[in-house]
Amino acid sequence: MRTQVAIIGAGPAGLLLGQLLHKHGIDNIILERHTGEYVLSRIRAGVIEQVAVDLLDEAGVGARMHREGLVHDGTQICVDGVRHRIDFKALTGKTVMVYGQTEITKDLMDGRAAIGAPTVYGAQDVALHDFSSDQPRVTYRVDGQLHEIACDFIAGCDGSHGISRQSVPPAAISSYERIYPFGWLGLLSDTPPVSQELIYVRHQRGFALCSMRSPTRSRYYIQCSLDEEVEAWPDARFWDELKLRIDGEARVCLVTGPAIEKSIAPLRSFVAEPMRFGRLLLAGDAAHIVPPTGAKGLNLAASDVRYLSQALVEHYHEKSAAGLAHYSDRALARVWKAERFSWWLTTLLHALPGSAFDGKMQLAELDYLFGSRAAATAFAENYVGLPF
Ligand SMILES: Cc1cc2nc3c(=O)[nH]c(=O)nc-3n(C[C@H](O)[C@H](O)[C@H](O)COP(=O)(O)OP(=O)(O)OC[C@H]3O[C@@H](n4cnc5c(N)ncnc54)[C@H](O)[C@@H]3O)c2cc1C
Repeated sequence: MRTQVAIIGAGPAGLLLGQLLHKHGIDNIILERHTGEYVLSRIRAGVIEQVAVDLLDEAGVGARMHREGLVHDGTQICVDGVRHRIDFKALTGKTVMVYGQTEITKDLMDGRAAIGAPTVYGAQDVALHDFSSDQPRVTYRVDGQLHEIACDFIAGCDGSHGISRQSVPPAAISSYERIYPFGWLGLLSDTPPVSQELIYVRHQRGFALCSMRSPTRSRYYIQCSLDEEVEAWPDARFWDELKLRIDGEARVCLVTGPAIEKSIAPLRSFVAEPMRFGRLLLAGDAAHIVPPTGAKGLNLAASDVRYLSQALVEHYHEKSAAGLAHYSDRALARVWKAERFSWWLTTLLHALPGSAFDGKMQLAELDYLFGSRAAATAFAENYVGLPF
């Protein structure tokens, strides 16, 4: 088999890249380790920046998002029982879209099926070869049988535990990491959201987030310790703990119900540099991770894909190598801005074990955020997404 771009991973980054390349007449094959059902079952992101909205429109898969997604003009931050609002629209003129990652993935999968572009699900033992030469190859197995794809480029869109980054010689890559001493216990329920906007909660018992996926589906998170087991959290215990952290009005409005999904996610900041190795280009979580507090992971995957698809279009249609030469630097400049914001917001809102001084600094910083238009504007600009 031969294709122009072999894409590893059918998460949002791989599927979006495939769709944009197809639109520009660049053929591609996606190899995904899991089944499509498995990929769709992972409950993750929910807050989408304008840049990702625009890209989904450009890819021709934005119609359902505009019909069913919820446009948010602002967000709320609750500090020890008192709520404050940051008005994105008033401060920046921009909004964000609340629309689940699973729905985006489904729209992208449907879009790919409609154009008949090939995706190999259940591709095992994917291996990347010769990407420092002009003739890279990818091999994989399906039902035990070995297959090979010759290509011009390999796009590593296979998430943080994928094979693409691992295939780079260690001396060629630098990693920067921060592991936070806590995780998020998340619960998804078919109950109406407690508020029309997200509520970020800073509380002495720990952080909480009241989020949603639709007017009838809510997503709640509470900060938990890293050694917590999800089995130790029956639904009633989760709801009781959440009620202790949110404000009185939210406690009254909260509608509880059975969990349809519950999981624990550790929090991590991670960046691998560079993002290009010869003819292998990394995009999305394969190259960087942010703690979910800033809602930036999926959005960064989308902005990488924007730079990468433009670079490949320039390569094929304008015979220019400039986009590819600058891909890593351009993407990383944006990545580090999002890393900073995600790290800052995580440090600002979570209970930090062991330091009373840090707790006081959080309160002073939050006081500044709510009291200063400049600080609130900076927050809003980062949250809705910095311009390219
Ligand atoms: C709890 C939580 C909440 C979040 N909330 C937000 C939010 O509100 N907003 C936001 O922007 N982001 C959020 N994120 C982050 C967001 O979900 C990720 O950044 C996003 O999924 C990245 O997309 P991706 O395509 O790069 O990687 P992935 O979604 O991880 O996709 C990678 C794909 O590659 C496949 N793969 C892996 N290894 C191989 C292999 N060897 N061979 C073939 N295929 C392989 C995987 O099966 C997977 O399908 C959140 C994440 C979590 C965990």
